[in-house]
Amino acid sequence: MPRFRAILDTVPAYKAGKTAMSADGRSYKLSSNESPYGPLPSVVEAVSRAASEMHLYPDPASTALTNAIAERHGVPPEHVAAGAGSVTLLQQLFETVGEPGAEVIYAWQSFEAYPLMADLSGATSVRVPLLGETHHLEAMADAITPQTRMILVCNPNNPTGTVVHAAELEAFLDRVPEDVLVVLDEAYREYVRDAGVTDGLTVYGDRPNVAVLRTFSKAYGLAGLRVGYLIGNEPVASAVRKTTVPFAVNHLAQTAAIASLAAEDELLERVDIVVKERERVREALISQDWTVPITEANFVWLRLGDRTMDFAGSCALEGVAVRAFAGEGVRISIGTPEANDTLLAATEAFRHA
Ligand SMILES: *Cc1c(COP(=O)(O)O)cnc(C)c1O
Repeated sequence: MPRFRAILDTVPAYKAGKTAMSADGRSYKLSSNESPYGPLPSVVEAVSRAASEMHLYPDPASTALTNAIAERHGVPPEHVAAGAGSVTLLQQLFETVGEPGAEVIYAWQSFEAYPLMADLSGATSVRVPLLGETHHLEAMADAITPQTRMILVCNPNNPTGTVVHAAELEAFLDRVPEDVLVVLDEAYREYVRDAGVTDGLTVYGDRPNVAVLRTFSKAYGLAGLRVGYLIGNEPVASAVRKTTVPFAVNHLAQTAAIASLAAEDELLERVDIVVKERERVREALISQDWTVPITEANFVWLRLGDRTMDFAGSCALEGVAVRAFAGEGVRISIGTPEANDTLLAATEAFRHA
């Protein structure tokens, strides 16, 4: 048997978001924070046209997409690095800083990909517990050592949906040494309605060590095509581009992302509907007597502790798949009104079981 790196023995096989089906054949996947809507006709059309060019390699620099993103956000194209999903960009970021001895700080509980990427890169994870269900930025700043190379701030946080606000973020960034990279993972930015939440793109300009991750997977509904981007100052964006696997962002993904930016108004109307549903679901859960943190993402979080797996099991009987974190809680994506109503019936039944 080949000799693999020892760290691989600790890496669990990836578990995809589950699906479930009720006895009468209903199935709602509320486990992966996907858009409940199918792709826009204009995007499907653009991708269909691009399909006739699939014998050609894609543009390795994603030039047209990079320019479209830069124009959309009013930043120079040199500040943009496109990637095959923001998880891939995260892996690239770990490649830019991760080496044995390097420490990477992130909150826990936060995005499941962080520990995995850290381990694979050889970096050491420093996990700082959430305070309540929110990032404890003061404690994260306290955890900085001379070995710290990167800090991940997931805002809104996956899986809790909570946010950090402008003043605390600024105070935190002021405490981070300039040679430590701070990554603001804003995968759910389009769902944020709290005006007190900093848009990372308004802070990175003055801070050479801050970068922002965004994705087309969630609000833009392109999870299956794998495309996201980083925006940061030139040295950061260029370091990340150096770690790109050649031709990583495929031609259909580049095309779909450009078409999605062109159809952004239509997509953001859908986001508005999801946000309304999110508030409806949260209020209904609270009136059923659940504790639900305020969420600025397209999901809600229930901290269920020991009852987590039982809860997920009873949702599955109703055809609702949720994301269960054993011993911690469940993250439930906001779906169509019908899916959400089915979920609310399941939570009500569990409450009285
Ligand atoms: C879903 C998600 C992403 C997006 O991943 P992609 O690779 O772009 O699909 C990134 N960060 C967080 C915290 C997420 O929840």
